[in-house]
Amino acid sequence: MATDVLSGATNQFEFKELPNSKIILSEKCFARLSGNINLCAFSGKQELEYGTFLYGKEINTNIIYFDIPSNFDNYTPSYREFSVNTPEMLEEKDKAINGNKYDCLAHVHTHPFIGGTCQFFSNQDLSVLKTLQLHHQPDDGRKKYFFAGLLTVSPENIFENDEISFVFYDENKNDWYKITNITVLTNNQEIPLNKKSNRSVMQLDNGKIRK
Ligand SMILES: [Zn+2]
Repeated sequence: MATDVLSGATNQFEFKELPNSKIILSEKCFARLSGNINLCAFSGKQELEYGTFLYGKEINTNIIYFDIPSNFDNYTPSYREFSVNTPEMLEEKDKAINGNKYDCLAHVHTHPFIGGTCQFFSNQDLSVLKTLQLHHQPDDGRKKYFFAGLLTVSPENIFENDEISFVFYDENKNDWYKITNITVLTNNQEIPLNKKSNRSVMQLDNGKIRK
C-alpha cells in the first residue's frame, strides 16, 4: 500500500462481480488472515501492515479453494506498507508458480483504519496484482491466476466488523472483478462469512451452514 492509503485508491466494491464466483478458505487460511488483521489492529498508532500468500486451486469455474497460507511469516511489518520480501517467501511463491500443485495464488494484506480510502485497495496494490498476473507466470506457458485480498480494520476496531475483500484482474478482458462470496471450510462444512452493508466481514455466519 505504501503511504498512499489516503489517496490514489480504487473502490473495489464498484467492480463487476466475477460471474458465479466464490472463494473458499481453509481453516488454516482463515486463521492466518484473522491473525494478520488482529496484528494490524493491535499495532495501533504504529499502523503496521501484515499479510501472506494463499495457495489454492480452481475447483470449478470461478470457484477457488485456498488450501494453505505461506509457510513463512518472517517479513518485517512496516508502517502503512506490506510486501512479501523475504527470500523464503519469494522462493516458496516461485515454486508454487512453477509447480503443479496450485493454480491460484492470492496476495493478501491488511490496512489499518486511518479513515479516508483505507478500506479500498490503493492503486499501488492493484498494480502489484496486475504485475503478478502478467509477469509472474510459469516458464513453460501454463497460466496461473492471481487474486488480491484486502483485510481492513473497522472504524470501531471490532474484529467482527473487520472487512475482507478479493479482486481479480482478467488480462484477456483488461478488466477488474470482485469476488464477494467468501466462505470458510471447517469440519467439512462450508460456512459463509457474515456480510455487513454487502461487504464480507471476518465473522462466520453460523446460521447459514451449508452441508
Ligand atoms: Zn495496501
